[in-house]
Order: sequence, then structure tokens, then C-alpha cells
Amino acid sequence: MTEKMKINITPLKKKGFKSENFTFVDFKTNKLHQECFDTLTKIKNDIDNQNLSNKEKIIINKIFKSYKKAFNSEELAEDEMILNNHELLEFKKINKKDFVRYLVYRYKYNKYSQLKILDEYPPCINIEPTSVCNYRCVMCYQADKTFSKKSSGFMGNMSFELFKKVIDEINGKIEAVTLASRGEPTLNKELDKMLKYCEKKFLALKLNTNASLLNEKNIHSLLSSDLQTIVFSIDEKNKENYEKIRINGKFEKILKNLELFNKIRDTKYNRSDKVVRISGVKINKNQNLDEMKAQWKDYADIVAFTNYQPWESSYDNPVNDIDRVCGELYNSMYVWWDGKVNPCDFDYKSTLSKWNAKDKSIKDIWNSEPYNFLRQKHINQQRSSIEPCKRCISTS
Ligand code: SF4
Repeated sequence: MTEKMKINITPLKKKGFKSENFTFVDFKTNKLHQECFDTLTKIKNDIDNQNLSNKEKIIINKIFKSYKKAFNSEELAEDEMILNNHELLEFKKINKKDFVRYLVYRYKYNKYSQLKILDEYPPCINIEPTSVCNYRCVMCYQADKTFSKKSSGFMGNMSFELFKKVIDEINGKIEAVTLASRGEPTLNKELDKMLKYCEKKFLALKLNTNASLLNEKNIHSLLSSDLQTIVFSIDEKNKENYEKIRINGKFEKILKNLELFNKIRDTKYNRSDKVVRISGVKINKNQNLDEMKAQWKDYADIVAFTNYQPWESSYDNPVNDIDRVCGELYNSMYVWWDGKVNPCDFDYKSTLSKWNAKDKSIKDIWNSEPYNFLRQKHINQQRSSIEPCKRCISTS
């Protein structure tokens, strides 16, 4: 039996608003910021002739003002924003006719959870094609047998009919859609059909996969789709360490699959069409980003670590003293394979869920009384009365 990697990272509690927003913009040397500001200026000068809602106009004006402040090296207020480096790269790729749409979406995505603004739809939605996974990673809820065993009732695949219902409603309302959550999406046999159904509908369609089931057919399906981002979840640089984290995973297989993916990407598709990211969860102090980059840089555009949250023990973690409002309640929503809707995947057994997307709209659920009750509990600094929020470290 494979020896498991020890989790020895203390989960980070994000506290308060950090002044990460304070960015000096050197317009002389940063060409992309300059281009972005020029485009924004044109939009701003013509704002009354554009078919924009009041909300959209306010956001555009706010970003314009933020850029002017950044230009003068003034600190930005909490509700102000300029594009970060990652967004500037997206700006470069985006069709300029979609620029206002993009700015509005990024503002909502970045700011609404911080400012606790409730929009009529969540800025981001996660739809899981399946909750089944072929891996049992040490830091994942799939390691909890009461969740992942077949007889638990939690396992299953989303029907195309339900997928279509959700997509039809959110088309034009939500821009950021992630096809993944608790399971491995490539296990759903209808994934190709789902991807095709999403075509031309979203600005930020993303899929996360462990890459273990890639083959020629599904690689073409991913690369020919409208996915803006493909994330391969890989946490280590070599066989020994990888297989200690990604239980059931075979390092050689991943390597082979990524080689095939890149061969097809290079020969049949435009490389700049999508962002491919290799993303690991840092659960052990010995995981090293530079070594990860050295191993994987030729297989992806970005190699990164995300912060560890103790998902594998959501319901057993000690009760903590965090009393800040959880940003997930304003930012994201999760639709499970069976239609159950949940505010987050930390609560992977959906104890917070009161809703099903089969019989209610996403908009009605997001604005429903039980959802607002949960938000109010957090606002009143009473998250310690809610299970599993009282064991969770998520803030904004
Ligand atoms: S468990 Fe509660 S605090 Fe944690 S992410 Fe979910 S809603 Fe937020």
C-alpha cells in the first residue's frame, strides 16, 4: 500500500482586507496597463451612447477612476480596482467588443464578496458533471469513505437534461463557470456534449481534471471547446511524492497523458487560445514551487500552488473563533450532480443545502430566504452557531 504524504501545513486564515489593491502602475513601462486604460478611456468617453445598465456604468466609472488614481500612485479604496497581471493577460486575448462585459464580470468576481454586495446571480458558479472520482487524494473529501463509497448516496453523474436547464438559465447572467467540484469531470460520458452546449455562452469557462483519464478523443474535446482555462491538478514533481498525495494515481500515466495533450495542442490548436494551468495544493512544507515549475513548465502555461484547506475533515476540524463573513456566500454557488445546490464545497455533504436546481431557478435559490438567513448569521458574527461554518477557515 502506498505510503501517504503527511499534511504538515497550517491552513491560512485570511483576515481582513489587505491592501493588495495598492498597485503602482508605471504606464511608461507597462504597455498592457496603458492599452487597457486607453480602451477604457474610449468606452468612458462614449458611455452614454452605449447600451449599459446603471450598474454597469457605475462599475466602468469606478475602474476608470481607479486607473487614474493608480496613475498618480494613490492608494485604492476597498471598492476600487484595476486589472491584476493575470487579468491583463486575459485582456490581451479578449475580443474588444466583450471588454465591458469582461470588466463588469471581473469587478463583481473580485469585489462583491469583499464588499458583501449581493447581486441577482452569483458572480461564479461551479457545476459538477459528476461527484465520482477515481482518486482518493489525502487532502480531499474523497478520502472520507462515508462520502465516497458507492452506498453513501453522494455519488452520481449529472444528466445532460439538468445541465442544460442550469446553463439555459445562467447564459448571459453569469460569466464564470467551472465544470468541476467534488468529482473528476472526465468520468461523465456526456462531458463532450456539455462542453459543446456551453459554446459562445461564457467568458470564463473552466474545467479542473486530474488528467488521469485523458485520451486522444477527450483531449480534442477539451481543446476544441470554449474552455478558457484547463486546470490539471498535480501537486508534485516526481513519482514518489505524487503517488503519496494522489492516492490511486500513477505518475507515468500522467506524464504520458500530458505529453499527448501537448502534442495535440501544439500540432492541431492555437496555443494562445486557452490557459493551461498545473495547480497543486500545498499540504506539506517540502513541496517546492521552483521544483514544480522545473518539472512542469513545458506542459502548461502556469504552474502554481493553491492554499490548503482541511477539506478531508470538514466535519471534524476543531471549532475556530473566526467571526468574519464568508466570501463564498456572495461569490459562488455549487450545483451538484443531482441538482442539490450548496454554498460551498467545504460542506461537501451539503448539510447547508435547502435547495435543488431541478425544481427552482438559480436566481431564486441565490436570493432565497434560507440563503439570506445564512448570510445574516455570518453578518451578525454568529457563524459559530452553524455547522460546518464553525469549523471552516474561509473568509473573503
Ligand atoms: S462552510 Fe460556511 S464558512 Fe465555510 S465556505 Fe462554506 S459557507 Fe463559507
